[in-house]
Amino acid sequence: MANKRDYYEVLGIKKNASADEIKKAYRKLAIQYHPDKNPGDKVAEERFKEATEAYEVLRDEQKRSLYDQYGFEGLAGMNTGFDPSSMHDFEDIFGGGFSSIFENLFGGSFGGFGGRSSHRSEQLRHLQYNLKITLQEAVFGIEKREISYQRDELCHSCGGTGGENGSQRKTCPNCKGTGQIRQSNGFFSMARVCERCHGEGTIIDKPCRTCNGTGLERKKQRIKVTIPAGVEHGRRIPIPKQGSASSTSGQYGDLFVLVEIQPHAHFERQGNNLYCAVHISIEQAALGCELYIPRIDEKKVLLKVPAGTQSGKLLSISGAGIQPRGGIAGNLYVKVMVKVPEKLSAKERAALAEFASLHSATTEPSLIALKDLS
Ligand SMILES: [Zn+2]
Ligand SMILES: [Zn+2]
Repeated sequence: MANKRDYYEVLGIKKNASADEIKKAYRKLAIQYHPDKNPGDKVAEERFKEATEAYEVLRDEQKRSLYDQYGFEGLAGMNTGFDPSSMHDFEDIFGGGFSSIFENLFGGSFGGFGGRSSHRSEQLRHLQYNLKITLQEAVFGIEKREISYQRDELCHSCGGTGGENGSQRKTCPNCKGTGQIRQSNGFFSMARVCERCHGEGTIIDKPCRTCNGTGLERKKQRIKVTIPAGVEHGRRIPIPKQGSASSTSGQYGDLFVLVEIQPHAHFERQGNNLYCAVHISIEQAALGCELYIPRIDEKKVLLKVPAGTQSGKLLSISGAGIQPRGGIAGNLYVKVMVKVPEKLSAKERAALAEFASLHSATTEPSLIALKDLS
């Protein structure tokens, strides 16, 4: 980490750069240093990875603000996009290899790398599946969860051509091959897409009976998805070629699984740290104690409460938070709340009275500065 360059320096932008400027700067570097353009060039590869990591952090408002405040330290234990020492993780993030990130980022306007042309990527029909998972599932990941959804597949009868066997394409009689219908209305002349050929200018003389000439069939698709341990809320996991088919290109788009983490009754997450709260008794707070805190996986971890702990104190158990794959584990923070007994037995009352006689409480309390109350 010592010789890591500042993310703003890497992208060559100012600290107050807008989201658009960040994207533009990254795009420029990505084009320059893309591995497909610089085969075997280790320096270019490093520059590309460095820029990608910087971009992954700065495009994310939460990570950017942590980085602005605390530098690389602030991102410790967080997934900063990918592990720089491993190309495998990098591919994992963008699914179908390098080309897909550009399609995601820049749409059809960016192309030519990785064997896909921009023209074809414009015709890819990506789908999104919103997957609700529990916090526990987010922490430990999910192996092969089956999901099902509707998508368009190439028609099994005509293979996507839209025509019966031996049929041919002919010029659309409706628009005479222009794909547009012109309408004059006084001063105005308007063009609309021809509804017969959908703007293609040609029609099939014998449309396929299965798909009515569309080349597509709506079908239920079942696939198994794997969610990595430590996944963040809002992450989109690409699954190549599981989107809908396009009848014009014959290609399948990708499916993006959007991860939505549901709130947990007892644990809250911030980055890779987990937060919870427990009650302790007045004597546990005053004398100190050892508690076994149930973690999110229900395994117990030891929490040492020091003698003289105040109510509301936040204690931490190092490394008992979320362990992201290839990253540093976060901590478990436990807020201890002192619970005063509401009912006392005669013996307890006597013992407390004895304590009170030893402890000289004043009848003139000292005021607490409001800023010290959390
Ligand atoms: Zn068909
Ligand atoms: Zn037409």
